[in-house]
Amino acid sequence: MTTAAGSARQGAPSRRRFDPETVRTDFPILARRMRGKPLVYIDNAATSQKPRQVIESIRRYYESMNANVHRGVYELSEDATAAYEWGRAQIAQFVNAPSPAEIVFVRNATEAINLVASSFGSLVVREGDEIVISAMEHHSNIVPWQLLCERTGATLRIIPMDGHGSLRIDELPAMLTDRTRIVSVVHVSNSLGTINPVKEIIGLAHDHDIPVLLDGAQAVPHGPIDVVDLDCDFYAVSGHKMFGPTGIGALFGKRKWLEQMAPYQGGGEMIRSVTFEKTEYAPIPAKFEAGTPNIAGAAAIGATVDYLQKLDWDAVAEHERALLAYAHEQLNAIDGLRLIGTADEKISVVSFVMEGVHAHDIGTIADQEGVAIRTGHHCTQPVMDFFGVPATARASFVFYNTKDDVDRLVDALGKVREVFG
Ligand code: PMP
Repeated sequence: MTTAAGSARQGAPSRRRFDPETVRTDFPILARRMRGKPLVYIDNAATSQKPRQVIESIRRYYESMNANVHRGVYELSEDATAAYEWGRAQIAQFVNAPSPAEIVFVRNATEAINLVASSFGSLVVREGDEIVISAMEHHSNIVPWQLLCERTGATLRIIPMDGHGSLRIDELPAMLTDRTRIVSVVHVSNSLGTINPVKEIIGLAHDHDIPVLLDGAQAVPHGPIDVVDLDCDFYAVSGHKMFGPTGIGALFGKRKWLEQMAPYQGGGEMIRSVTFEKTEYAPIPAKFEAGTPNIAGAAAIGATVDYLQKLDWDAVAEHERALLAYAHEQLNAIDGLRLIGTADEKISVVSFVMEGVHAHDIGTIADQEGVAIRTGHHCTQPVMDFFGVPATARASFVFYNTKDDVDRLVDALGKVREVFG
């Protein structure tokens, strides 16, 4: 994956030696027991767990810094503003945004994509225009564009995929026309684990001056991102998928776009001056942040990035690669189990179906064994349709998971076989 992992960015903090067992002790919830057994949490693609350092930062914020931002003339408000803007600077550093002004705080990746579909859409999309997405998008990167198409009379075009869950990039050049206004694709698929060749996609789109949005919700849990190297125009992330709190996410947007785009919502915070005749908007990023923001969440994102920056991401990548290979090998050995998503370039996400068993039954039996996996369509119904299954079971591993977690999953699947024969 094109990340900034291992790159020697200036000011990078010193890293701890990576050891998953040690790192696990940072996550209090992982010590819980479920159904009388130690919890195996492998539903990280739905949401990740939070280290003590992040939980602590939320407590610290409310205990000692809580005030509204950007308005107060008193010290407490200055502290809250500093914490909020520190969070922005931290996430800017994590994705290597040239400036914190190019980071807009939102609720989550979904809101980031809706913001672009609405504001960028209004700027450039007209009747007869085309928007290109892919066959493996999360509903968050389908529905906002469909709404835009309904509003404008534009049409969606879909980059197809093959039976491994790899995009058919060879089809893309012919899909890019003088009516294509934006390409919006998922960096890493949440239901297949596929890591898409986003640099190639961006290169092809940029050859036609077409901007590209990347849905990075599933990429950021696996390491820092470099939006400069990728040269993407927009990058959307959710805090809760990257070990931060729920209710806060970020949109990176190139300054040239953010400055041209109209505000997404109106209200306080996003204005320079208001009269009944005319309102002047604040400069970016405030222009896109109407109303009192999630200040504690932003500060906690700062603490999250602080935590993540201390990880050795090269070692994490190696650990996750080994976990994926082990999980594939173990699951492939189970009779009647079919992996859904076998692209060469994959993140540690394993989707599967078992002959004669509904995915929900797999999830329920796994739960009895203390193993938390996700079952369903994973908000990617077109992917399920493509593979001809109603649902899959999905195990998604991150740096705090271990081979033991894979073994516990495999044991649980043994129980599924016992029950269903
Ligand atoms: N895109 C992808 C690839 C995702 O996996 C998800 C969450 N499952 C989203 C977008 C939406 O994230 P959120 O619900 O945090 O907005």
